[in-house]
Amino acid sequence: MSIGIALFPVDATDSGTLALHADSAMYHSKEQGKNTASFFTPEINRRTKGRLDLENGIRVALEQQDFVLYYQPKVAIDTGRIVGVEALVRWQHPIRGLVPPDEFVPVAEECGLIVGLGNWVLRTACATARAWDAANLPQIGMAVNVSGRQFLRRSVVDDVKAALEATGFAADRLEIEVTEGVLMQHSDNSTEDLQALRDLGVQVSIDDFGTGYSSLSYLKRLPIDTLKIDKSFIQDVSDNSHDAAIASAIIDMARSLQLNVVAEGVETEAQVRFLQRKGCGLVQGYYFGQALPLEDMEELLRGGGILAPPSGD
Ligand code: C2E
Ligand code: CA
Ligand code: CA
Repeated sequence: MSIGIALFPVDATDSGTLALHADSAMYHSKEQGKNTASFFTPEINRRTKGRLDLENGIRVALEQQDFVLYYQPKVAIDTGRIVGVEALVRWQHPIRGLVPPDEFVPVAEECGLIVGLGNWVLRTACATARAWDAANLPQIGMAVNVSGRQFLRRSVVDDVKAALEATGFAADRLEIEVTEGVLMQHSDNSTEDLQALRDLGVQVSIDDFGTGYSSLSYLKRLPIDTLKIDKSFIQDVSDNSHDAAIASAIIDMARSLQLNVVAEGVETEAQVRFLQRKGCGLVQGYYFGQALPLEDMEELLRGGGILAPPSGD
């Protein structure tokens, strides 16, 4: 049980505000891991207010279409060819400028706004890819991140279907990325949803692979196409023997399970060489390119969609 306590007359002198403050204190107890009681404090008040402001901000931003997608290339390691992009959302805030997803996606998840936001991302990403096709740009894949909440609500399959129908984008070039942690948390629902996505013809990737404690038997059972090795393993792959061992084990395992494998967060030439040696064919990371705004991505594709490594060797 989580208990919140607010005191008359110190915390408030009317019953409505008193109840609200007790409620905030109760949420504080929940955040502390439940099974505890908390007294209302000015600090709790500040945080609740900050949270509410952020929630309202997200709601308004959705209405005013203040979100934008950036696109990060996914590259074939041997040729530098862009085989796909990952759509990454940002908030174009009127005062704060470009806000990264880590600062609003978790809150959007908690308050349920992620369902609307996620749907907007899906549709926009599919519409963009379709527009690139219409402009005769190279036909590449489009990857979209999907949060745990979208799986929990079981809305993800309907949303994907609707986005494909509305835009006419080819299902087999859409890839849904879901983190390993989410799959492990909602394993029953997610297996069904993943299968339904697969039945639509959509590709499924496990994001941040290696951080979510999945068991190998899950990997065999889950209907997935691709593992994305988490960037924390790639970071030190060229000088930390443990990370190197984990990364190559994931690459080997993916190969024997006949899954594709993508290395995330590739920043250096040494990492590229290591991955090439181990036979990891697809990479994503600052070495090849950051997430780009629409116009820049289009320009890259108009130029043929080949990324020369920065060192030019
Ligand atoms: P993610 O799906 O793992 O995305 C990769 C993140 O790593 C991106 O950060 C990307 O810009 C960054 N990154 C790419 N290459 C490198 C590199 O070489 N080095 C380093 N250090 N970082 C690199 P970003 O765009 O800030 O996104 C952060 C997270 O926010 C994403 O992690 C994803 O979990 C979430 N996110 C982004 N867009 C969406 C969305 O539309 N829906 C949902 N549900 N989550 C999203
Ligand atoms: Ca991702
Ligand atoms: Ca990732």
